[in-house]
Amino acid sequence: MDAQNLTARLKSSGLLRSQALIGGKWIDAYDGKTIKVHNPATGEVITEVPCMGSKETNDAISSSYDAFYSWSKRTAAERSRHLRKWYDLLIAHREELGQLITLEQGKPLTEAMGEVTYGANFIEFFSEEAKRVYGDIIPSPLADRRLLVLKQPVGVVGAITPWNFPLAMITRKVGPALACGCTVIIKPSEFTPLTALAAAELALQAGIPPGAVNVVMGNASDIGDALLASPQVRKITFTGSTAVGKKLMAGASATVKKISLELGGNAPCIVFDDADIDVAVKGALGAKFRNSGQTCVCANRIIVQEGIYEKFADAFSKAVQNLKVGDGFSEGVAQGPLINEAALHKVESFVQDALSKGAKVLLGGKRHSLGRTFYEPTVLSDVKSEMLISREEVFGPVAPLLRFKTEEEAIRMANDTNAGLAAYIFTNNVQRSWRVTEALEYGLVGVNEGLISTEVAPFGGIKQSGLGREGSKYGIDEYLELKYMCLGNMTGN
Ligand code: ADP
Repeated sequence: MDAQNLTARLKSSGLLRSQALIGGKWIDAYDGKTIKVHNPATGEVITEVPCMGSKETNDAISSSYDAFYSWSKRTAAERSRHLRKWYDLLIAHREELGQLITLEQGKPLTEAMGEVTYGANFIEFFSEEAKRVYGDIIPSPLADRRLLVLKQPVGVVGAITPWNFPLAMITRKVGPALACGCTVIIKPSEFTPLTALAAAELALQAGIPPGAVNVVMGNASDIGDALLASPQVRKITFTGSTAVGKKLMAGASATVKKISLELGGNAPCIVFDDADIDVAVKGALGAKFRNSGQTCVCANRIIVQEGIYEKFADAFSKAVQNLKVGDGFSEGVAQGPLINEAALHKVESFVQDALSKGAKVLLGGKRHSLGRTFYEPTVLSDVKSEMLISREEVFGPVAPLLRFKTEEEAIRMANDTNAGLAAYIFTNNVQRSWRVTEALEYGLVGVNEGLISTEVAPFGGIKQSGLGREGSKYGIDEYLELKYMCLGNMTGN
């Protein structure tokens, strides 16, 4: 596909925007500064977007604060209808949004279109949940009193999102926030602001009022600090690195904000001797190589029982060998580029560390001949728990295989990390699937399945992988406050 033609078409559709959105108006940075947005597959500049800081963020906060007053007063049915309209528009523009994702993020177009559906589903789901924010009536211990619990929106929300899912990480935050009456300032990653801006344009078209959804981008720490400092911002919701998440958590204490964090994982994928090998290979492949390994639920350690190890390693390597690498717009491509040079260097240094400590390359192990940030889909064997690649997220297309003997050992290895987001197990033993799931210190567990994210289930981590849950009926609680109401003097006439 000709990138220039595509860019021109997206511009004329109104979905390729190069300005930020504050109070319903498309604007530049106040000092005119911009940042370039690149196509990671080609290095070409797609467009430039405003490089904003605290001033613009403070204005976005004010507009969000003003909009909160009226948006939160709308009936749940009205908010629901706007969200449903937004969902319909996201789906109607699925192709253009998918193209934007591939352009700025690099994932293959079919995967990008899959993200649009997945991302839009959060808006649909929360358009329905908007109508089900029920309170409670508590049996009173005193005859003359009636006790009630109301659920009310927390207020203005700052939503800081990463580059690996340019749409879905936004909709899973903004969907529940808007559904219950909150208003939002989105700070997308500077690597992938275009999908966020297109989604915001569609939110305006859906009749979501000016100020209810704002998008600012630029100097991340200045924007973050402004959101943290403002007493008008009542909640921060963040998906990204553990290091930045910890900073935000500390910063939120000054104004005692509510906070939700989706941070890094270190997902174990345990393959037992009694697994169905085809199911395990397919599941591990999906769990590891989705988005070229750049998700926080990607299998980071494939822990295989000794009886099936050689057979699995062989079948898995063959499957990985079939993954076509290339520009996400090319037919049949399953693996796009890594997001940038820093990501490539990280992958290289982790592989180097593993090889220097005794790991062996079964497949790949180096940069791809396509150049730029393409890396060969890689399988390493003889990986040990103390290697860097087992300790931290590699965030790239490298599958390290570790060996274990007993179930207890596998659980110990899997839990030997500060992370606790996703885990996967492959076994045909029903009792074992329960036993191991209960023993794993993780927020999500896939049993005989490698792709487990859905808008209807709670997504989130334990330990240092985060706080709170996104998606599902539980996800809306993160945006609500409980208010207890005591009605006295209820026995009088
Ligand atoms: P990644 O390594 O996946 O890019 P980051 O945590 O660096 O993860 O980025 C996730 C999001 O957090 C991005 O939108 C980024 O711009 C933003 N971010 C980075 N540093 C800060 C900060 N100090 N304050 C607020 N947001 C930040």
